[in-house]
Parts: sequence; structure tokens; C-alpha cells
Amino acid sequence: MARRPLIWQLFPLFMLVSLGCLLSAGIYASQTLKRAYLSRSMADLESRARLFHELLAEPIRQGDRDALQSRCAELGKASATRVTVIDPAGAVIADSDADPETLENHKGRPEVRAALTGELGMSDRYSVSTGKPTMYVAVPLTENGKVVALVRVALPKFTYRGLLVDNAVQIGVGFLLVVGLVALLSLAAARRITDPIESLRQGAERFARGELVARLRSSDSTEMTHLADAMNSMATQLDERIRAAENQRNELEAVFASMVEGVLAVDTNERIININTAACAMFDVARERALGRSLHEVMRNAELHEFVETTLRSRGPCEAEIVLLHPGEQHVRLHGAPLTDAARRNIGCVVVLHDVTTLNRLEAARRDFVANVSHELKTPITSIKGYVETLLDGALEDHDAARRFLATIGKQAARLDALIEDLLKLSRVEQEGDRGGIELHDGTIQDILELAVQTCGVRALAKDVRILLKAEPDLRVRRNPELLQTAVENLLDNAVKYSPEGTDVHVTASRVNGSVVISVHDQGCGIERQHLPRIFERFYRVDKARSRKLGGTGLGLAIVKHVVRVHGGQTSVESVPQKGSTFSIHLPESIPVRQQLNVV
Ligand code: ADP
Repeated sequence: MARRPLIWQLFPLFMLVSLGCLLSAGIYASQTLKRAYLSRSMADLESRARLFHELLAEPIRQGDRDALQSRCAELGKASATRVTVIDPAGAVIADSDADPETLENHKGRPEVRAALTGELGMSDRYSVSTGKPTMYVAVPLTENGKVVALVRVALPKFTYRGLLVDNAVQIGVGFLLVVGLVALLSLAAARRITDPIESLRQGAERFARGELVARLRSSDSTEMTHLADAMNSMATQLDERIRAAENQRNELEAVFASMVEGVLAVDTNERIININTAACAMFDVARERALGRSLHEVMRNAELHEFVETTLRSRGPCEAEIVLLHPGEQHVRLHGAPLTDAARRNIGCVVVLHDVTTLNRLEAARRDFVANVSHELKTPITSIKGYVETLLDGALEDHDAARRFLATIGKQAARLDALIEDLLKLSRVEQEGDRGGIELHDGTIQDILELAVQTCGVRALAKDVRILLKAEPDLRVRRNPELLQTAVENLLDNAVKYSPEGTDVHVTASRVNGSVVISVHDQGCGIERQHLPRIFERFYRVDKARSRKLGGTGLGLAIVKHVVRVHGGQTSVESVPQKGSTFSIHLPESIPVRQQLNVV
């Protein structure tokens, strides 16, 4: 259906109504006026008839036809009225406008018939001679109660057609002016209705475009004002709701994006609905490229596809673990759950991906550690058990053998003691280091190094190994003296242990690039290159038998590593087989308070 603007629907309607009203009013007024005019004209004609009756009475009585004719002509001319004198037989005796001889008998005319009875005769009809509408009044002239003649006056009747024809131009111009005026007024009236509607329409369009801050202006009419107010309040509510929804979405997006776990949502056709940054990193894909694409296109991992298919088919949560090889080896635990809409229809599934690589590594390390500890404990215990059984089986009687066995038992017990001692130290450093329970104080390291050298001096002396200490003065670090001393002692202990007799061990402390470096250098057996990366691991030993023989627990360097980590430092090792090794501790140098004040 062809739609027209409201203004072009209202405008013709207004025009029609206005012109209709004008026309009806005009017709009514003209009819009333016409009636009034006609009755006045008739009254006027009657007066003239009576007047002429008086004026012509004498010439009629005298019977001079010519004089009567000329008198009629005079009166007719002077009054612009047709004057006719008719005898009782209906014959015309005199007429102001025509020759009486030529006129037919008038007895049949209604006004004549009425006047012949002695009354006033009136008629409003078409003239037989002119064919035009004409008003007639006939007055009887009586003598001794007998009608002797009639004086009839006639006047052409007023007609619209005549009026229209006479004033065609003025009426035409007037009509056009009225139509123009009505058109202008109709247009103005239609605009008055459509303008506020148009402004509301434009406002509604602005709302539809999302410009919800703009407000609609109220108009003069109550209805339009209410409508504008309702639309404004609707826009305010919509704006608030959209803002709230946007905030909520942004918060969710932020949570979603900053989640450590990967999140992947797919629809029932395995198209990616959403994926977060962590999941993108796991599969090394760009988020923009992945969104809306098929899982098969974006991620080439058969295990993941299988898992997603299983989750889509299942009605409950699913779990699995997969290994990703790109960009690096990653163990990922998958938790899948079906996605449903408000009508509880299945619309896809969501998969949460936990990177369990570290967890798995820690778990493996824990398993290794338990196995190692068990193994380390089992060896001396088995040995002790064996010797005790031998002693109980009769070796006690052999004093020399018993003494030897008991000495071995003592050694194994000491080994157990050392092992447990080291385990306790390690767990204390680890636990308290993690909890931040180890107190660090600013201080020098000279005294700590001297104490460590002193403690290890006894064993070094027994092996004829010299420990030489050379430390730069005023080296200060934030340290826990007891723990730092243990770490240096462990390094010195190893240096002495793995050095041949008669060699020197150098302990140095110096300032290197803002760090304090404590190094223990020996001229011992050294370590093969391939062992160096793992040397600080728990129970890692280059030569197990030799370490055990020398009373090593395999935990010394692990303790050093953890102590140094607690101090915010690092460990390093350099070694050349058969030449010697250098173990170093790098600690951040602390600036003394006095110096800090000077700087300020
Ligand atoms: P252990 O109690 O066996 O000495 P550590 O953790 O202290 O355990 O040392 C681990 C291993 O590193 C040792 O078994 C040894 O093989 C090697 N090692 C440590 N220090 C030295 C050194 N100064 N020279 C040669 N090898 C060393």
C-alpha cells in the first residue's frame, strides 16, 4: 500500500472540510438573503403598482388610449419597471415596453386572474413574452364595485445565474482568494499537527541509532507532551540498562581475559563462540582469527576435538588431560560442560583448560623426592640391620669383629643423622622462605665468612687443605647470618671433600656490578659439563659412591640454592674436570644507612 506523509493526508481533508463549510454557509446565507430580497422586491413592486394605479386612474377613465400609452411609457422608463394596463377582458390597452396591439390576451395570467376578482394579484413566474423569471403585481381599478381595468407592474426577478454572469470576474477572483486563504490555513493547521509528530519521529530515530542521551522537546498539546515524556523516560531506562549491561559485559570480559585458565566456548557445530587470551596462548592462535571459525580450522589437536565432541554429546561435565606440543610442551587438564540457553536447549559447550605442567612437574619432583629419601634412608638402615643381625647371630663373641661392626653401625647412624639433619634444614628453609618467615638484616659478611672458614678448618686441616679467605672490606648485604654461614659452609665442605690433599681452597668476596659475590674455588676433581645444570638439584650427585664414601647426603648444594633464593640472590658454578671448581653466591649489595643519607 502506497503510504503518504501525514501532512498530505490532513491537508486535503482540512481543505475539503473548510471549503465544504464555507460553501454550506454561503448557500444558506445567500438563500436567506435571496428570500429577504425577493420579499422586499415584491413589497416594493406592490407599492409601485399602487402608485401607478393612482397615477393612471384618470387617463384610464378618460379612455384616451394614446395618452395612456405615452403615460405608461413615461412611468415605465422613470421607474425601470414594465407597466401594463389591461381591460377586464384580458386585452392589453397600454404597455410601457411593447406595442399593445402586438400583445396577446392576458386573461390567463395568474396575477390578472386574481386581480379580476377585485383582489391584489401577485405572480412570480417566467414571462411569456421575455421568457425570463419575472415578478408581477396587478392592482384592479374599480368603479361602482366593478373592475374596469387592471394596472400591472412587472420587474425581472433577481437570479444567481444573472448575478454570476454579471460579476463573473470579481466572483472568480474572490473565489480564488478564498481558496488560497483556505489552503494556507489548512496547511498551517496540518503542520501544527504534523510538526510535533515529525520532531518525535526524528527523536525516536535518534534513540534507535543509540543516541540515548538526547531528549525530546515537549510540545503544546498534552498528548504529545505525555508521549515525549514517555519516550524520554524509556530512553533513560534503556540508557541505564545498556550501561549496566555494558559494565557487566566489560567486567566479565576483563575477568575472562585475565583468567589464568584457558576458556573455550563452542556452539553445536563446533564453531568458536568465545575464547580467552590464555586459551589463545596455549594453542598459539590470534583471538580475532579464531572467533566464529570452526574448531577444526583453528586448532589442530585431535585429542581436543575428540574431547569437545564427547562433551557436546554428553549431558554432564567431562574431564581429560592432553599434552600440547606447540609452542612448548604443556600438560593441559580439560574440564568440559554443556552450554544451555534459557529454554535449557543445548547450544554448545564450554571447556576450561588448566595448564598443569608445573603441577605435574612438582608432583613428579615430589614422587622422586620421596623415592630418593626412602632410598637414601633405606641404605644405611639396611646396613645397620644387617650388622645388628650378624652381631646377634654370634659375632658379638668375636670382640674385634664386634667392634668393627659397631663402628660401621655408628658410621651409618651418623650418615642417617646427617641426612635427616640436612632434610630438616632444607625443609625449614623452603617452608619459612615460602612463608616469608626468615628475617634478613643488613650487615657485613666478613664475620660470617670467617666463622664458616673456622668451622670447616678442622676437616681441612685433617686433609692438609688450606682455606684462604680474601674479602673486600665493608661488603654489606641483607642476610640471615646463620643461614648464610650454613650455605658457605656447605660450599667449603664440598670444596674440601672433593679436593686432593695438600691443595688450597680460596674463599673470596668482592663487589661485582652492584652485587656481592662470594666464591669458593678449589683445585679438586671438577665436574663434567653435562652435570652442571642439575648439580643444585636435591640428591643429584656426579659420583654417588664417592659422595657417600665422603659422607655426602646429596642435599648440600640444594640447601645452598634455597638459602640464596631466600636472600634474593643467585648461585652459579664454573668447573673444569681435573682442574677444579668455583661455586659462587651472588647477593644484592645493601647500601649502608649513612651512605643513603649522603646520597639524599
Ligand atoms: P654431596 O653431599 O654429595 O656433596 P652436594 O649437594 O653438596 O651433595 O653436591 C652434589 C654433588 O655435586 C656431589 O655429589 C658432587 O658430585 C658434586 N660436587 C659438589 N661440590 C663439588 C666440588 N667442589 N667439586 C667437585 N664436585 C662437587
